This record gives sequence, C-alpha cells and structure tokens, in this order.
Amino acid sequence: MSAPANLLGLNRTQLEAFFSEQGEKAFRASQVIKWIHQQGVTDFQQMTNLSKALREKLEQTAVVALPEVVADRLSEDGTRKWLFKLEDGNSVETVFIPEDGRGTLCISSQVGCTLNCTFCNTAQHGFSRNLSSAEIIAQLWLADRLLGREGPGSHQRVITNVVMMGMGEPLLNFDAVVSAMELMKEDFAYGLSRRRITLSTAGVVPMMDKLKEQCHVSLAVSLHATNDELRDQIVPINQKYPLKELIAACQRYVDGSPRARVTIEYILLGGVNDRDEDARALIKLLKNVPSKINLIPYNPYPGGQYERSTQKAIDRFRGHLMKAGLTAVTRKTRGEDIEAACGQLAGQFKDRTRRSQTVDVA
Ligand code: SAH
Repeated sequence: MSAPANLLGLNRTQLEAFFSEQGEKAFRASQVIKWIHQQGVTDFQQMTNLSKALREKLEQTAVVALPEVVADRLSEDGTRKWLFKLEDGNSVETVFIPEDGRGTLCISSQVGCTLNCTFCNTAQHGFSRNLSSAEIIAQLWLADRLLGREGPGSHQRVITNVVMMGMGEPLLNFDAVVSAMELMKEDFAYGLSRRRITLSTAGVVPMMDKLKEQCHVSLAVSLHATNDELRDQIVPINQKYPLKELIAACQRYVDGSPRARVTIEYILLGGVNDRDEDARALIKLLKNVPSKINLIPYNPYPGGQYERSTQKAIDRFRGHLMKAGLTAVTRKTRGEDIEAACGQLAGQFKDRTRRSQTVDVA
C-alpha cells in the first residue's frame, strides 16, 4: 500500500484531483480545505459535513501531518521565532514580526541554502533539502494557531502578510513554494491577496519570469551590489545571472502592472558597499526599474566576516537615494536578541553533507 497522502500541502486544484481519484465530488476539496486551514482541524472524524463513510475512507488513505514545535522564543520587541522539527529530524525557523496594524510572517522554503552568499548565516550551515509544500504551509498553519486570533470568537487574523524570506532560496524550490502560495491566496484557506505575499529571491532570473506567469505575487530582489565584480563575490549566483539580466528581469516582472514595484533589498556592509559612489551607482542602476528600496543594515552572527555600516553611513546612503527621488526605507532590525533578524536564521540540520551542491535550474 502506498503511504497516506498528506492533505495539508495540497492546494484546491490538487485536492480536487485527489478526491476525483477516489471517486468523490470535487467540492469536497473546498470543504476539507476549510476544515484544515480555517478551523485548524486535523482529525477527519471531526469534519462533520463529510459522510461517515468518507471520513473512514480518508482515515485509510490520508493524513494531515504537521511538524513539531521544538522552540518558541519571544523577543523584547515582540518578534517571535519558532523552530519546527520535520519528520526526518531536520528543523526550520519561522519568524513573526508584529508592526503597527500588521503582522508579517517570515517563512522558510528550504532546509539551508545552496547559494553561499557571504554575509548570510543560513549559507554557513550548508544545504540539506527542499521543503515540501506541506512543510511550507505548515509554518503558516502553526503560527496562525500559536498566535491565536485577535479577541475571543473573532476571525480577524493576526498574520496579515507573508514574506518568503526565511531560510533558503524560494525560486529553487519553485513547485512546492507556488503550491503553498496558492493556499495562502485561497479564499477557503488564508485568503491573502497576492500583494500581501512577497517572495524574495537572490536573482534566479528564469524563475522570476515563470513566477510572474504562474503566481504573480509581490517580488523582492536581494541586490546588495551595483557591479558584477562585487556581486559575483558576495552573491555568487550573480556569476550565472549577472546584473544586466537581473535588472531586465525586474523590469519584466512589473511590466504591464502600472502601479507595481519591485522591492530592492540592499544590505549595508561597512566599508564594502555603503560609500557615496555605491549609492550613486545604485541610483543609476535602478533608473528604469519601478522599485522601492529596502536598506538592510547587516546583522552580525558568530563567525560572520562583516561589520554593520555606521548609522551615519546608513543615513547618508539613504539620503542620496531620496534626493534622487527614489523611495528608500531602512529596515528596522527586529528580533536580534533571539537571532531572528534577516540573515540570522540557521535551523538545525541532520545532513549538512550537501554543502557544495551546485545550483540546478530547470
Ligand atoms: N534567498 C532569498 C530569501 C532570503 S531573504 C534571497 O536571497 O532573497 C533574506 C534577506 O536577508 C535577503 O535579502 C538576504 O540577502 C538578507 N540577509 C542575509 N544575511 C543577512 C545579514 N547577515 N544581515 C542582513 N540581511 C541579511
């Protein structure tokens, strides 16, 4: 007998296919999605609008399986970080960042990462494997329950935005990430509009076009350098997809959506990419890209080789961009006391042997 299917990660189309294969009506899919994602029910016996016979059948053929919560830490600033343990013993981190009027959940897409960016803690720990769509959406399912809703009986969700900015490169786990994002958008599940879901990439150019075709969510790009020489070094995937191609891909992503803008992430590394001439080069590079810039002061971690830019350098850099008419905000460092800030996520790996796995793009 084949292993029972985990229904947690199936989006509506996939769950409809699952029910048709079992000779059931397609509308069962929306009923079951509501039970799992809106009601938080994982036991088929409690899904009372399904016939008893169907519930029995589901018990034989399917499960709703979730990772285990192994750590739950709360920062002084309200940021919360969880370590979720997966079935095979690997674990991943998920971060919740509360802000005025919104709550953002930062979700991981891989156990580790293959990209080896020199300033990122995740990279220092190697790569183990891709997450399944169930393991990706599970992070939202669990956070949603662990945070509770606002007030008793209220259906107001605390999580209003999702960013695919945790561990891993989401565009190198394309199918699972898109399936999970479909569930985030699904009215019978989380009902998030595509603008409230942001996928961040280090620049896997062909997949950016595919994303626009298949799941046009908001896009963030980790730019971090304005010339190929530096970017080849600090974001090595640049050797495969250099700046010229990356910038063109950003333009294509928002082409046809007059108000859409790509978020450009730019880490500020003291003395490396934070000088006046870097700001000027950035202005020139983004001249024809509808964008907003997110400046991210480097977050240190043990063994890290960089220093954060001084506050003066950060303000000066931002000043140049603003003067040129660009929108630039400095991302506030959140959850630093619990190692939950950008680039600090490490998770826990069972298998680190695949550290130097090459980047494979379909
Ligand atoms: N792989 C994707 C998703 C990660 S998003 C990407 O590269 O976009 C996490 C963001 O934090 C990226 O912009 C990443 O470059 C940035 N980051 C990584 N290490 C950091 C550090 N030490 N300090 C600040 N930002 C960091």
